Amino acid sequence: MPNTGHYRVKTLGHSRQFRPIEGWFFNLNPLHPQVDTLFFGAFHGDEPESAQVLMHLLAKLKTDPGVLHGRCVAVVPQINPDGLRLNTRKNAYQVDINRNFPAQNWEPSPQAEHYHGGYFAASEPETQLVCRLLKRYSPGKIVTLHTPYQVINYDGPPCALALAQTMASLNGYPVEADIGYATPGSFGTYAGVEQGIPVITLELAEGVPAVEQWHRHHSALLAAIQFDA
Ligand SMILES: [Zn+2]
Repeated sequence: MPNTGHYRVKTLGHSRQFRPIEGWFFNLNPLHPQVDTLFFGAFHGDEPESAQVLMHLLAKLKTDPGVLHGRCVAVVPQINPDGLRLNTRKNAYQVDINRNFPAQNWEPSPQAEHYHGGYFAASEPETQLVCRLLKRYSPGKIVTLHTPYQVINYDGPPCALALAQTMASLNGYPVEADIGYATPGSFGTYAGVEQGIPVITLELAEGVPAVEQWHRHHSALLAAIQFDA
């Protein structure tokens, strides 16, 4: 496990096909392992831009730790490494991780369906890993990256809207309360609505080079770190 000064890399668990899922932790206090801001990418494997932009964020946090302002930040760029490898929305068991969370509105659905949420809630190792992370590190706020809608969604307590507006003022994206269709078992419902954690879903553009998207969004992502939830 490489440990260099202000950050360390941890293997948090494994996917269905046993690919490691790694997290980078900055300024983590081992005696009080509470994360202030948690970033997730690639819940959906066919949205590689979400992971790539977080790799740019990682490079920034490694080389310019001043932007952390001493806060504890965790970055998990690839929640669904099997899907990334297969270029599929779902994981290797044909489950949409972002419909598999044990929220009260989770519901069964046919496996062939685009949004199949699994045969039971939290059936997938990727989902279980995320649930464990929330329990263990009690994140103060969470930013998840997706594509392709080019909006900022928010879930959770009122400060989630304030954070969304702060980020929107820096990247020019519209803020939207919800995505316009029902999302049973989604991460936003589970973590934001039910656990009361401010959750931002930043929907990036599809097919735009990550370096360009990083230039557009880096101020918004760094502002999320500095935001007091
Ligand atoms: Zn997505």
